[in-house]
Amino acid sequence: MAARRTAVAVVGAGPAGLAVANLLRRAGIAGVLLERESRAFVEQRPRGGFIEEWAVRGLERRGLGERLVAKAPRHAEFEFRYGDVTGQRHFVYPHQLLVTDLLAQYTGAGGEHRIECDFVAGCDGARGFTQGYLPAESTVKAHHDYGIGWPALLAEAPPSADGVLSGIHPRGFGAHMARTPGVTRFSLRTAAGEPEADWPDERVRRELQAHLVAPIAAKGMNLALYDAFLLAEAFQAHYAGDSAPLAGYSAACLPLVWQHQEFSLWLSDIFHHTAAAAENPFPARIAEARMRRLLGSPAAAAVFAELYIGKNAGL
Ligand SMILES: Cc1cc2nc3c(=O)[nH]c(=O)nc-3n(C[C@H](O)[C@H](O)[C@H](O)COP(=O)(O)OP(=O)(O)OC[C@H]3O[C@@H](n4cnc5c(N)ncnc54)[C@H](O)[C@@H]3O)c2cc1C
Repeated sequence: MAARRTAVAVVGAGPAGLAVANLLRRAGIAGVLLERESRAFVEQRPRGGFIEEWAVRGLERRGLGERLVAKAPRHAEFEFRYGDVTGQRHFVYPHQLLVTDLLAQYTGAGGEHRIECDFVAGCDGARGFTQGYLPAESTVKAHHDYGIGWPALLAEAPPSADGVLSGIHPRGFGAHMARTPGVTRFSLRTAAGEPEADWPDERVRRELQAHLVAPIAAKGMNLALYDAFLLAEAFQAHYAGDSAPLAGYSAACLPLVWQHQEFSLWLSDIFHHTAAAAENPFPARIAEARMRRLLGSPAAAAVFAELYIGKNAGL
């Protein structure tokens, strides 16, 4: 089979891959986008829904956020009222709508091809194969297991509150998050690896009535966009004769990655501390001390709000 030559092969049509592919095309850099699943599948796969304001403005500035800005409701409230402190908002726009928008801007060719390229952009997600091709000598793998299961379900039910509903209960947590006017996402805490079969509808309903807390900090889709913006700009600089941004790509991305990992861990500890209290009171007491500081100190609340809304992540 004759090989097709291109500059960048992007693997994966999630938010990261689609943003990179669209931005390269706009910059006039040749590329192909490779996706394992069908278009219909990726346009329907439900995942995240909260996009930080800097990411929305970043998409808008790059000509990729028109429908999002026109359609997405804004959330300014959480238990900690972060909207008042930062002046910024979460845009509530389900993952699959963003993917649909970005796919509509980018139409790829079908059929079977052999491709030769200068670069492969591995945007195939946390379990993708491309990470296996990273050179061992320049790769550091870091891993953290939260030891918790977070089943999420989407219900065809209008949200009963505008903001994220949260509460902490000795039996764990549950979450209520608006997705669209007719759809709400609910999450629950389970033991790690607990099979779906152990959670029949009746048990889910019973537990959701008991407790409501968001599982973690909703950062993944935002980080994917951050990385995509930086990578696309680094490729543009490279093809304009400056390879420094490409060489510095990891160093430029990693501070925000670790900032968000730290915040997610911190928030998760607070959300899950009641469930662990019976086994070991130490983490529970630490989490309660953090919660008291958060609720008692406007300065601590302001820092929390900035981290939650991702205020200082902007490009
Ligand atoms: C249930 C759930 C809820 C979430 N909630 C939130 C939230 O509220 N806020 C938030 O910010 N983040 C959230 N996240 C995380 C967020 O969805 C991810 O961080 C984000 O999708 C990462 O984007 P990505 O483009 O890097 O990867 P992905 O979205 O995972 O896309 C990777 C793509 O690569 C494709 N692919 C994989 N292997 C191959 C292959 N061999 N060849 C070709 N294509 C391949 C996949 O099919 C997929 O389309 C949630 C995730 C889940 C699972």
